Amino acid sequence: MDNSHDSQQTPCSGPHAKLGGNMSRRRFLHASAAATGAAVWAAACNGANAAELVPGGVDGEVMGYTDTEMLPWAPEYHKHDPNRPWPTDIDPGELTHPEEPAAPPPSDAIVLFDGEDTSAFEQPHDWEVENGVLVAYEEDIVTQESFGDCQLHLEWMAPDPPRGDLTDRGNSGVFMMGRYEIQIFDSYTEKIYPDGIAAAIYGETPPMVHPIRPPGQWNSYDILFTPPVFENGEVVRPATVTMHFNGILVHCNQVIYGPTDWREISEYGPHPPEGPVRLQEHNNPVRFRNIWIRPMENLKDMVPIRDWPV
Ligand code: MG
Repeated sequence: MDNSHDSQQTPCSGPHAKLGGNMSRRRFLHASAAATGAAVWAAACNGANAAELVPGGVDGEVMGYTDTEMLPWAPEYHKHDPNRPWPTDIDPGELTHPEEPAAPPPSDAIVLFDGEDTSAFEQPHDWEVENGVLVAYEEDIVTQESFGDCQLHLEWMAPDPPRGDLTDRGNSGVFMMGRYEIQIFDSYTEKIYPDGIAAAIYGETPPMVHPIRPPGQWNSYDILFTPPVFENGEVVRPATVTMHFNGILVHCNQVIYGPTDWREISEYGPHPPEGPVRLQEHNNPVRFRNIWIRPMENLKDMVPIRDWPV
């Protein structure tokens, strides 16, 4: 088991803001919202760097940051910029049989969650299975097994009624190799910065379009992932993602530019060629079902690289 993903958990990095002192994120969010209201509020990181969400977008309803660095790969925008264009909202249509999985596992898949068994994930953990559904609770969970090139399928549902405000609304995520987050978020009911909405490569690249279903309905992710390649400690090939969200293409050979940190622009650091799948807990009982993966050893040989180096 590769546990090196833990080394990435530095204070004030990642989509969880690791808060300093004794204040938990949950308590901090509650205190912040109460102190300043919903429009603008301050977030602190280790008590040192102030971070302020501000309104933006065409109608001023999108919340994000403008005190962050400009993105090298999209230099007209800040990291988590509220003024980055919101992807077109697409109605993906209703599932004909919402009680059934959108795509049952094929015969060659490794099933990570079948509605009952959670032993593919490290034990013990606090997530519970309720009526065949895995519910996020208290902590992230990671698979026992590690993966490199792969095809991953999962289905998720945001809480209904919606839970959490701003950065917390139905927030979860799937981290490829335990490091690179494809965001899970109720961006149907909360307008957060576009590089943080559902199916965004968190903090890097929004989905091309936004075909999310409402809270209480199942969404599906189908992710083709290739890991980064390192030589002599340097990245020589970045990770890539091709992805369908509710059957609709949202990333096509999209380069991942580095670890998907919150507010920070981070460079690749060498790590093993395989890593676990990590599902994020972010203060919301986001639900999961039908999770399976197909390792694909030669996928990166078929995937051209563009927009790299930046
Ligand atoms: Mg997340």
